[in-house]
Amino acid sequence: MNNPSLNTHWMPFTPNKGFKASPRMLTGAKGMHWITDDNRQVLDMTAGLWCCNAGHGNPHIAEAIARQARELDYAPCFGFGHPLAFELSERLAHLAPGNLNRVFYTNSGSESVETALKMALAYHHARGEAGRQLFIGRERGYHGVNFGGIAVGGITNNYKAFGQWLPTDHLSHTQDLRRNAFSRGLPLHGGIDMANELEKLIRLHDASRIAAVIIEPISGAGGVLPPPVGYLQRIREICDQHGILLIFDEVICGFGRTGEAFASQTFQVQPDIMTTAKGLTNGAAPMGAVLAGDHVYDAVMEASASGVEFFHGYTYSAHPLACAAAMATLDVYEQDGLYQRGDADGEISQYFERGLHSLKGLPGVIDIRNYSLIAAVEFDAPAGTDIQAMAWEQGLMLRSLGNAIAMSPPLILEKEHVDQTVGILERCIRQHFK
Ligand code: PMP
Repeated sequence: MNNPSLNTHWMPFTPNKGFKASPRMLTGAKGMHWITDDNRQVLDMTAGLWCCNAGHGNPHIAEAIARQARELDYAPCFGFGHPLAFELSERLAHLAPGNLNRVFYTNSGSESVETALKMALAYHHARGEAGRQLFIGRERGYHGVNFGGIAVGGITNNYKAFGQWLPTDHLSHTQDLRRNAFSRGLPLHGGIDMANELEKLIRLHDASRIAAVIIEPISGAGGVLPPPVGYLQRIREICDQHGILLIFDEVICGFGRTGEAFASQTFQVQPDIMTTAKGLTNGAAPMGAVLAGDHVYDAVMEASASGVEFFHGYTYSAHPLACAAAMATLDVYEQDGLYQRGDADGEISQYFERGLHSLKGLPGVIDIRNYSLIAAVEFDAPAGTDIQAMAWEQGLMLRSLGNAIAMSPPLILEKEHVDQTVGILERCIRQHFK
C-alpha cells in the first residue's frame, strides 16, 4: 500500500487532525539528515527525540541488529539469560560513575522511570522503612508518561486528564529569567537557595515519609534548564542528611549530551539510581536501562532469603536485538570520541553556543540558554509550533516546547550545520514576529 489512509494510526503527542491536514512524513535518514516523502533533506537538530546521538543510519549499529536477529531473535529474561545482556551490563557498569553497578533493562525512558521509583520503594521496604512512599519531583520535570512518571513530573498537560496517582510534592523549577537570562553553560545565580527548598518540603512532609527525589540533571522537555551552579551538589547533601534516595533521570543527558557519558560525571554528583534510554541504542531499538547503586541492590537482595527479590520486569527486558544495538552504539560513541564532542568547552560546542547566542536581540526572544549541545530559545509568546513548522519547510527540524524551541543535535554535528541552523532560525523568528 503506497498511500495508506491516515485515519487509523492514533499518533502520540500529536494534533492528529492537524497532522492529517499537512502530514510530515520521514522516509529515510542518514547522518545529520532526514529524507522526506517528497525527497527533501531536512537537517536534524534534535537527534530525533533527543536520542540519535551518533546521527542516523550508522552501518555498524544496523549490521549488529541484523546479525542478532538471525542468531537469537528473542530470549525470555525471567529466569533465563543470554550472554549479551550480561556483557552489556558489565560495560554500562564500567561506564557509569561510582557504585552504579547493577543494570536493569526496560524498553523506554518511561519504563526506566517506573522501575527506578519501584526500586526506591523496594529499597526502603527492605530496610524496614516502608513508610517512605512519597516522591519529590520538580516543576517542569519530564519523567515520561506512565502513572508514576506523570505524578513525579511537573508538566500539567501530562496529568490533567489522568490524575496524579502517587503521593508527590514538587520543587520549583530552576529557571530565573530575571537573574540568569541568556546564560551559557550553568546559570550562575540562585542554585543553593533553589536547592534549599528541599529542606522546606522535608519539614512539611517529614523525612520518614519521603522515598526519593527524582530530577533531570538538565531538565529537557520542560524547557532545557541547566542547573544553576551548586544546585545538584546541595540537593545531594540534603538527601544524604535525611536518608532520601536521589534519582537522576538521565534519559536525555545520558550518553554524551554533556561531554561525559553521563551528566552525573560532568557535574560530579553521584545519584543512588540513574535512569537511561534514548542514546543507549542511538534510538535504533527501544531500550532503557536503570543503573542502581550497589547499596540499593544489596538491600533488596538481602531482604529476600530466596525466591524472586524484585517483582518487576518486562517481556522485552534485555531484548537481544536491543542489546546488540546498544553494544554497537557504545562502540561508535567510543571509537568516534562522541562523548568528548559534547564537552561544553570543546570547539563544536563553543561554535554552536556562539552561533545561537548571536540571535539575542531578535524580536520576541527573551532567553537563549544552552549547556554544550543542548539548547533552547525562548520567546515572549507561544511561538514554538509556528517556528518549528516554518523551519521544517526550510529544511530544519527543531523541537517546539510551546514558548520555546529546543535543540539537541547529534554529536556528529559540524560547523556548517550550525551556520545553516542559525540562518534558518533567524529568518523564522523574524517572519513570526514581524
Ligand atoms: N525521562 C526523560 C528525562 C525524558 O526526556 C523522557 C522522554 N523525552 C522520558 C523520561 C520518557 O522516555 P520515553 O519517551 O522513552 O518513554
